[in-house]
This record gives sequence, structure tokens and C-alpha cells, in this order.
Amino acid sequence: MASAGLADRVRIDPAGPLGARGTGSDSMAAELAFSARNISKTYAKRRALDDVSLEVRRGEMVALIGPSGSGKSTLLRTLAALVAVDKGGVVETAGITIQAEGRITHRVREARARTGFIFQQFNLVGRLSLFSNVMVGALARIPGWRGVLGLWPRQDQQRAMEALARVGVAEYAGQRANTLSGGQQQRGAIARTLVQGAESILADEPVASLDPVSARRVMATLADLNARDGLTVVVTLHQVEYAIRYCRRVIALKAGRIVYDGPIDGLSRPLLVDIYGPEFEDIMPEGHAA
Ligand code: ADP
Ligand code: MG
Repeated sequence: MASAGLADRVRIDPAGPLGARGTGSDSMAAELAFSARNISKTYAKRRALDDVSLEVRRGEMVALIGPSGSGKSTLLRTLAALVAVDKGGVVETAGITIQAEGRITHRVREARARTGFIFQQFNLVGRLSLFSNVMVGALARIPGWRGVLGLWPRQDQQRAMEALARVGVAEYAGQRANTLSGGQQQRGAIARTLVQGAESILADEPVASLDPVSARRVMATLADLNARDGLTVVVTLHQVEYAIRYCRRVIALKAGRIVYDGPIDGLSRPLLVDIYGPEFEDIMPEGHAA
């Protein structure tokens, strides 16, 4: 209902200023979006990550694959400082040390807004409109009472509508999130990270709950943000075929260790069989390359 009204009130420009962001002067120097050195993560008795090191340059789109339990989510969460790694490991985002000495550093606050995190289950508030959900990305910059009363600064409203247009769901802005399809919700979640000002998106199984058509649309949205806006994307995927289709570089985990890090073309069938074991035919439909 309200969607047309909202769309009328703010300018929608799919190629608008969002495309020009992500080049803040203080971050220009850092060529690496993410750097992890010798990180391990031990839960009570289980080692989820075992001496992992990796670098992701700004503007890369990287697939993180591996069987369930191999540590993909844990690794992604360490890059967002949602999980603290064991002593000895260091994690940096955009040149800012966010983890060291077994703890999350105070500088994580500088880094937080730069990294958007996408979950399998979208994490939108179902009873709020898509627009309000996306505006939440701007909350950090808005004085509390204005956000509570819904008095969003006009500039932020415009930014939100631009973000929704950028991911192709502006027409649903006024609709309650729980009335939208999974794919539309997931694209809304991506829009929220754009409004937040993210330069990088970490997406944890973003298409695992979606039908194939919606899944492709979400992956294409991430790939487009990467290609046209230069956003860095690291995405965990259960199905290797999405990695093959959308990512040039793949990192494969097995039992908490990196067993492959390189171009997608270098992923051989024997290596995949070794990584996935009996799960292999499940994740790699018959007839696919590699
Ligand atoms: P993946 O995402 O590849 O499925 P995870 O990173 O979720 O793997 O898990 C890696 C390992 O760490 C698994 O053995 C899992 O059971 C364990 N693990 C993950 N999170 C926790 C936690 N909060 N507490 C205890 N063990 C955990
Ligand atoms: Mg996982």
C-alpha cells in the first residue's frame, strides 16, 4: 500500500550515490578487506578452526565452501568479530586490527559499519515494512528518539530507497517483511548493509533457504554489487555450483583447515571428493564440470 507513496516521495536512482561509496579516505590505504593470520577457534572440546590464514583483497568475491561442520560459519564470524579467536591469531579488516591476543579489540567499532553480515534466515523484523527494516541500517547515525518515532532524516530515507532499488525490491518498500518471499527478504537484508555503509559483505549461506530461481537472483545481486560497486564479498555456499557460477576464487575448508585457496578452475573433482566425502554427489549435481 504505502510502497508507491514512499517511492514517490524519494528519488530512486539505481545507479545513484551508493555506487560511489566505499572509498572513504581513511580506508583507501588498506588494500586488504580482510586479513586473518594463524587463527584458531576452540570450543569446549572441539577445534572449529585450526591455524587458518587468509587474505581477501578489496573488490574480491570469494566463495567459502566445505562440508557442514568444517568451520565456514565460524571463519566468517571471526572476520566480523562476532566470534573471538584463540590467542595467537590476528584478524584485520580494512587495515584495522579487530582481533588480537585472544580478544576483540576496541578498534572493532571503527570497523563494524564497514562490514555487512547476511544470514541464511534473512533476519528482518517480520512485522515491520521492508523500508523500516532497511532504515535500521542507518540507525547508528540517527539520534535515538528520531529513530524511535520514525522521523527518519530525509537523506537516510532516500538512501534506503536507493538501496532497495539497487537490489531490485523498491516496489515492496511498504510491504511487511513477513509477506515477502525469501528471495525478496534476502535482497532487503543486502540493501540494509548498503544503507549501513558496508564496503564488504559477509554472507553465510545466503541462498540455502531459497528456491533455485530466487537463489540465483540473490547471488546475481551480490555479484553485481561486487562488479559494479566494488564491494568485497565473502560468501559461504553449500552448493559448489553457485561458487562456480559466481565466484572466481574459492577457499575450501575441511575440518577447520584450508585445503584449497585459489581460482575456481583449480577445484578438481578428486579434490572435491576428498573434501566432501560421501556428501559430494549431494552438493555437486551429476554432469557438472570440475
Ligand atoms: P559450518 O558452518 O562449516 O557448518 P561451523 O563453523 O558452524 O561449520 O562449525 C564448525 C565446528 O564448530 C562444528 O563442529 C560445530 O559443531 C562447532 N561449533 C560451532 N559453533 C559452536 C558453538 N557456539 N559452540 C560449540 N561448538 C560450536
Ligand atoms: Mg555454517
